[in-house]
Amino acid sequence: MPPEERLKIVQEFADLTDDEAATVFNSGGVPLDTIDRMIENVVGTFELPLGIATNFQINGKDYLVPLAVEEPSVVAAASNSARQTRDRGGFQCSASEPVMIGQIQLTGVPDPSGARLRILHHRQEILDLANEQDPVLVRFGGGARDIDVRVVNSHVGDFVVTHLLVDTRDAMGANAVNTMAEAVAPYIEELTGGKVFLRILSNLAVHRTVRGRAIFSKEAMGGEHIVDGIIMAYALAASDPYRCATHNKGIMNGISSVVRSTGNDTRAVEAGAHAFAARTGSYLPLTTYEKNADGDLVGTIELPMPVGLIGGATKTHPVAKACIKILGVDNAQELGMIIAAVGLAQNHAALKALATVGIQKGHMKLHARNVAVAAFESLGVEEDPALIDEVKEELVKGGKIRVDKAEEILKRIKGL
Ligand code: NAD
Repeated sequence: MPPEERLKIVQEFADLTDDEAATVFNSGGVPLDTIDRMIENVVGTFELPLGIATNFQINGKDYLVPLAVEEPSVVAAASNSARQTRDRGGFQCSASEPVMIGQIQLTGVPDPSGARLRILHHRQEILDLANEQDPVLVRFGGGARDIDVRVVNSHVGDFVVTHLLVDTRDAMGANAVNTMAEAVAPYIEELTGGKVFLRILSNLAVHRTVRGRAIFSKEAMGGEHIVDGIIMAYALAASDPYRCATHNKGIMNGISSVVRSTGNDTRAVEAGAHAFAARTGSYLPLTTYEKNADGDLVGTIELPMPVGLIGGATKTHPVAKACIKILGVDNAQELGMIIAAVGLAQNHAALKALATVGIQKGHMKLHARNVAVAAFESLGVEEDPALIDEVKEELVKGGKIRVDKAEEILKRIKGL
């Protein structure tokens, strides 16, 4: 069915007005046939704001960073924190080689340790077989590099799990790795007499990590007591999973926004980040904070970063293509390093706000427009952009950014 016909069915089913249906169908700047080829059962697009984070200097190079996100204050916070690193040289970032893991689960072998050794013995044949699947990747300098084999005990018996380590260069690599994992599976069965079950990428991409470090100067931050406050706030995250989940969520506010704006897979990066945070058996922060000898704050970040410049939606979505051009990156590792810097900046901004005025002051000011809109909704008043701004201004001036206050203001203005 073409998108128009699908939408007609949905419109009838959900009783959408013509205006509502037209809003869904409007595909913005992206041609509808492009969208229709990206996923299934397309009826339109879902648009998000795209904002530019400023002040990022990474390994001596200045970047403008596009963030696609619905949450107010993310872009402002990242830009503000990045500014506070500039007098100490900005962000220093590095990346590992872009090596992803494909898992092959072997079942039904009576001698798992023996099978493990038989697989390792045929490492080169397995790598050659994998590399035959993707001559293009090999041509670009990537390909299967190594294998690792473990015996995994489960409640239904032992599995022999082979990890195929594949350098996927500028691709995120999930499809490339899955194809290779499927291709080598029959050979592993032949070697061991077992039965292969799953053949799939692992999102715990421990061999494809990015790291970032920055010094936030005490002067730019407003004093050494703020450095101490951030270290205290960090200590709670490092000791308590309830705080740590929110600490890492703040990091992902920045990270997922860049991953999304460049057409990459947010779920792949998020799954990898949280699994990496829990890899020791305790769920820990993705960042660290310390005070250096000068009394400045040293922040670091490290996490898996399976992002690409090729494959997936990166080359099909025209806005993602433009975002990659805005970033001016040459390879996927450089993109990953920028993403790490944004994650660190975002986390620093949240910790600084928490350790000083509290998170709500800055956030709610930027969120005030959403609160004003909620009052129009709850009172059934038709939205009018100028009037929304008027309610928002008054809310911010009054200092209590709540829907009941917005309702009061709107009722007064409208004489309700
Ligand atoms: P892809 O298959 O579209 O493109 C990768 C291919 O591009 C490579 O295999 C290679 O043949 C070619 N290529 C050309 N130039 C290259 C270069 N310079 N560097 C590297 N490769 C080059 O995409 P992909 O990256 O294999 O897969 C990404 C997609 O897989 C994403 O859409 C993701 O959402 C999806 N996915 C994710 C998971 C997961 O995370 N668990 C699972 C399945 C699929």
